[in-house]
Amino acid sequence: MGEVSFASSGADLELVGIQKRFPGFTAVENLDLKIPAGSFFALLGPSGCGKTTTLRLVAGLEDPTQGKILIGGKDVSALKPHKRPVNTVFQSYALFPHMSVLENVAFGLRRRRVGDPVAKAHEALRLVELDHVADRKPAQLSGGQQQRVALARAIVNRPALLLLDEPLGALDLKLRRQMQQELKQIQQEVGLTFLHVTHDQEEAMTMADTVAVMNKGRIEQMGAPEELYELPQTVFVANFLGQSNLFSVKVVGDTDQVLHTDLEGTRISLPRARSMRDSGTITVGVRPEKLRLTGEAPVADASTNVIGPGRITDVSFIGVSTQYTVEVPGAGDVQVFAQNMQAGPAASLGDQVWLSWLTEHTFGLADDRL
Ligand code: ATP
Repeated sequence: MGEVSFASSGADLELVGIQKRFPGFTAVENLDLKIPAGSFFALLGPSGCGKTTTLRLVAGLEDPTQGKILIGGKDVSALKPHKRPVNTVFQSYALFPHMSVLENVAFGLRRRRVGDPVAKAHEALRLVELDHVADRKPAQLSGGQQQRVALARAIVNRPALLLLDEPLGALDLKLRRQMQQELKQIQQEVGLTFLHVTHDQEEAMTMADTVAVMNKGRIEQMGAPEELYELPQTVFVANFLGQSNLFSVKVVGDTDQVLHTDLEGTRISLPRARSMRDSGTITVGVRPEKLRLTGEAPVADASTNVIGPGRITDVSFIGVSTQYTVEVPGAGDVQVFAQNMQAGPAASLGDQVWLSWLTEHTFGLADDRL
């Protein structure tokens, strides 16, 4: 068979109208999803939103109430779990303690009677940079190394699709960040399709090329991490991915490019294409780091929004940045994150300030009420 190669053997995954009802509870509702071959896809959402159930449906550990699942264009809905070209890596890596690292990785191959399991296991271990500890027992490895062995074991038989269910959840923060980078590199090297489930937004954003934000059994929004962050479309996504300042405003006019709205007598503008509607009450938002805080009122025009004056009611010095809470009459409490260009915060508690930001940084949400 010659040299073992891990190059691009991923397949695409398609979920068509998937629904999963448990007695008295619908965990997944009308899920339509297409994940291209070779992509790193993250399903992100709070606890209980249906992420794990979705993964279990793909693995064949649960049967959908409705809908079908296709892997590489083939309907696998009726296949038993072991017949699907899928492996799963869980948070608990469950390595066999009495076997060496190499035996743990080769175990599944031996059972499947695949040719030269030892060579394949070594190759998988090289990929996760653990070939030098192949003879050790799992207990002689760190948590991060054990998780990498679990990963090697899951990719050794080259599944078309790798499912990862909070695989880094048991690791401490520093190791977790390091493993995020490593996982991403390994995914790029092996070219397999990864479907990663997590509740950690930073983890999803750093690793995945596409993120789907899930809430109450439904996908709220799906896209590249930057797109989801810069242009959230629902209140849930705006608040789940980072922080947002959201305002309920009335549309008062427009030009070809810009929609003008009224917030208690103050004008807020946004690019017209960003608003789902061009009349009535809409919800608009801006990220805290997009706001500028000044002691004098800046000039407002179609490309610059200005609200204020307000009063600083809280200052939190974070080191690289300072977070301010500004109470603005008519707008409520507004969060501002400012980079610290000099030592210490630029403004103090109780200061009167104006807040301004570029129209191009305003986003419009589908929800019409906060
Ligand atoms: P977590 O991150 O906490 O695991 P999750 O997003 O992965 O959350 P799921 O495990 O998919 O969520 O669960 C979604 C919902 O379905 C939860 O409210 C859960 O209680 C419910 N659920 C899951 N399995 C069953 C079951 N076998 N019977 C009844 N309800 C279930």
